[in-house]
Amino acid sequence: MSLLAPFAEDPSPAGISPAAPADSRSQLLNGATAARYRDAVTASVARVSAKIAATERPFTGISVDGLAPTVASVDLEAPLHDPAAALDELEEVYLRDAVYFHHPRYLAHLNCPVVIPALIGEAVLTAVNSSLDTWDQSAGGTLIERRLVDWTTDRIGLGERADGIFTSGGSQSNLQAMLLARDEACRRELTRDDAPAEARLTDVLPRLRILTSECSHFSIRKAATMLGMGAEAVIAVPTDEDKRMRTADLAAQLARCHQEGLIPMAVVATAGTTDFGSIDPLPEIADLCARHGAWMHVDAAYGCGLLVSRRRELLSGIERADSVTVDYHKSFFQPVSSSAVLVRDRATLRHVTYHADYLNPRRMAERRIPNQVDKSIQTTRRFDALKLWLTLRIMGAAGIGELFDEVIDRAADAWKLLHDDPRFEVVVEPRLSTLVFRYVPGADLDPQLSDRVNLHAREALFASGDAVVAGTVVDDRHYLKFTLLNPETTLEDIATVLDLIAEHAGSCLAERPEPALSAH
Ligand SMILES: *Cc1c(COP(=O)(O)O)cnc(C)c1O
Repeated sequence: MSLLAPFAEDPSPAGISPAAPADSRSQLLNGATAARYRDAVTASVARVSAKIAATERPFTGISVDGLAPTVASVDLEAPLHDPAAALDELEEVYLRDAVYFHHPRYLAHLNCPVVIPALIGEAVLTAVNSSLDTWDQSAGGTLIERRLVDWTTDRIGLGERADGIFTSGGSQSNLQAMLLARDEACRRELTRDDAPAEARLTDVLPRLRILTSECSHFSIRKAATMLGMGAEAVIAVPTDEDKRMRTADLAAQLARCHQEGLIPMAVVATAGTTDFGSIDPLPEIADLCARHGAWMHVDAAYGCGLLVSRRRELLSGIERADSVTVDYHKSFFQPVSSSAVLVRDRATLRHVTYHADYLNPRRMAERRIPNQVDKSIQTTRRFDALKLWLTLRIMGAAGIGELFDEVIDRAADAWKLLHDDPRFEVVVEPRLSTLVFRYVPGADLDPQLSDRVNLHAREALFASGDAVVAGTVVDDRHYLKFTLLNPETTLEDIATVLDLIAEHAGSCLAERPEPALSAH
């Protein structure tokens, strides 16, 4: 085929030309194609809506080996030139076997069902496609994001000088918070009155330590590694029987740092640990941070929903933090991604401020043109804030809080259910909405068997698609975990899932080979 052929005036007959350029141009969203955009997106929304209405199970139970060939067989060099055909294909490669978080028997991870106002926001933000790095790419978007940052810092009570930025998620928020804490600690150490004249950053960095509970999120250790401190710079503080940081141990570790010439650059308190929903004693931790000059970070990725709930007092002390992580995509019922890192003192954000001539030259800051890139570790960045904006404008903060309160109530009821059920053993009474428990295969059975039975029950349940639950490890033993974030999940659903778990565990026990009889 001649190189010029695709540009010929007359398109080749359908089915012969692999890619008609006229068609490519018409795929761009602009004034001329706006109606086509509306029809195409409406049709796709109709499909998803029908799909969600018809979903009977959270998952089909398909295996990787079962699904991989379907995805692999798609020829990416042979476009379909037809949205309907592509969506038909998508049914096979994705929609049919997706894991549906809105289903009441999806009880696994911190994934929430999403609120419709946020989905409206998602549809708008992705089509307008603002990038929130600079004012000249976003205008109103920048102001909306700033309003929401202020709204959140007001809810937390961070004070007049507070600020923050939306991020891709809690891991990124934690990373940025640790970066700010590190650079503040270094700055202070190098500018101390008694700092040696030849003091260098390279001498300070190896002495930095982060203190956090043994139940905190792994992204803290990951952040320490990415920040060049090494995972060893993280000191794990033991927790009490409710999985809350023991502040006596924190005090002892801070004192030890001091004696050994180490710098406790940050204490990370968790408000809602991922496994147990436990909330570290924030006021006591704030006192210790103040005494030792340590940056206090509160990881409220999960517990942030309490900011709008009738249980707000569970977060008392959070207002004393130097930085806070919130994941709206967990307990604010927002679609992924929606998260923010908030700081008490906006000046600390300067540690991520870099000026580029082409983008955000220094003179713009001097003219007070708001460029959000000055506060972010990303450059091009989604307008995720719009989802929260429309959520607050349509249903309001109290509406979100009600949803979160309802799942916390449900978790309390489910705890009673588990506690009274001799088939199971539950670790702690929940503060938020998770339950960590295990099936107990009889009184005198060995721990390895208990591990095997619980691991099997989780996998068998997943493969059945009837329900999805999570697993975790407590004191080296395998447990199961429910994360409740769906108010549509009833206590009956939970009881049904417990029965299914017991059934799968029971059949695993039944298949157990008889112990070999010892020869006499
Ligand atoms: C989920 C979670 C994170 C990580 O957040 P992502 O949005 O998944 O990156 C951090 N901390 C806690 C306590 C979490 O529960």
